[in-house]
Amino acid sequence: MAQAKTYDIDTIRRDFPILHQQVHNQPLIYLDNAATTQKPKPVIDKVNEIYSLKNSNIHRGVHYLSTQLTEAYEEAREKVREFINAGNTHEIIFTGGTTHSINAIAYSFGEKYVQAGDEIIIAELEHHANIVPWQVLCERKDARLKVIPINDRGEIIMEAYEKMISGKTKIVAINHISNTLGTINDVKKIINLAHKQDIPVLVDGAQSVQHQTIDVQELDCDFFAFSGHKIYGPNGTGVLYGKEKWLEDLPPYQTGGEMIHKVSFEHTTYTSPPLKFEAGTSNYVGAIGMAEALKYLQKIGLDEIAAHEKGLLDYATSRLEEIPGLTIYGTASKKISVISFLIENIHHYDTGMVLDKMGIAVRTGHHCTEPLMNHFNVEGTVRCSFAMYNTKDEIDHLYRALIKVNEMFG
Ligand code: PMP
Repeated sequence: MAQAKTYDIDTIRRDFPILHQQVHNQPLIYLDNAATTQKPKPVIDKVNEIYSLKNSNIHRGVHYLSTQLTEAYEEAREKVREFINAGNTHEIIFTGGTTHSINAIAYSFGEKYVQAGDEIIIAELEHHANIVPWQVLCERKDARLKVIPINDRGEIIMEAYEKMISGKTKIVAINHISNTLGTINDVKKIINLAHKQDIPVLVDGAQSVQHQTIDVQELDCDFFAFSGHKIYGPNGTGVLYGKEKWLEDLPPYQTGGEMIHKVSFEHTTYTSPPLKFEAGTSNYVGAIGMAEALKYLQKIGLDEIAAHEKGLLDYATSRLEEIPGLTIYGTASKKISVISFLIENIHHYDTGMVLDKMGIAVRTGHHCTEPLMNHFNVEGTVRCSFAMYNTKDEIDHLYRALIKVNEMFG
């Protein structure tokens, strides 16, 4: 039997140099992990090592540095494949992040398959990155964007979705986990329902890969997008997973070097995926750094991280509920360690500013989900989001700081 891993929070925290500093003369408490996660030493060291000793443009060189780094880049692709259990490495495309991945499919799929009168389905709790690219496509093609409503707990209303799917639906693009509410959507069911009518599904996994094990074959999604910077990897990195049949079929969304088979002034032919979708010099240093982050996560254990974060979510929810006048937005039965809230009569910016002065980093505003804010009839919220390195002690600090906020403005 596999031995359960022990969760050594002190060792984990030591791996993240940024956490050990003071801001405004207070120890930093970083609770803005849904916006971006901090980077562990192995990731920082890997990026540093490449720039210090190994840098060279990949795929085009016969010399030592180039061949070595090409190998490392392709090993990184294999690490991503294994991490999300894709069937094949050529189903893994390196991009600049989730936004980039979604735009690539909205453009490429949209060009080939979406026509006037067609429909695209998204949900009310999408991040702008999974709204605007589809909206722009609909404007370009005279198609319609249909939006699955949510209930007041922040859960997708499945019956409404079932009624929405029709012969006109060309693609469903759905958020796996809401960055604002923490809701875990039943994407498996959403995919099954769409597939019954041969409709492909793109999953925006920006908030899920870092919190739970992803198996794209088990999910059976057609596309899956995520960002490296939210999974403890470097900025400007990301992944687009696509089923082989789609990547073979779809046109490239960017053209130039790397993605060609043969070029003449009369005509150009393209190479096969994944390089067909990686025009130009990629962020190869970032991709290799991201693979290092995935190795780090596997070393700690995704199940162990999920259990730790569930403990933090439960504890923080019960503490925050003790605060007079505090309302939590997003109370889905299945959620990850994200809590959006407002304290009665206190503007979210004021709460955020005061917390900052006490060393606590939270996010305030609409969290790139303006339509979701409209649903709850608020302009913005305060959002705290917990990661593998956060502690109950930090939540106690947050609780005491919020009591102070209440005293100051109450
Ligand atoms: N989707 C979701 C659910 C997100 O949380 C985010 C980032 N906040 C994005 C998409 C966009 O990710 P990125 O900015 O890394 O492209």
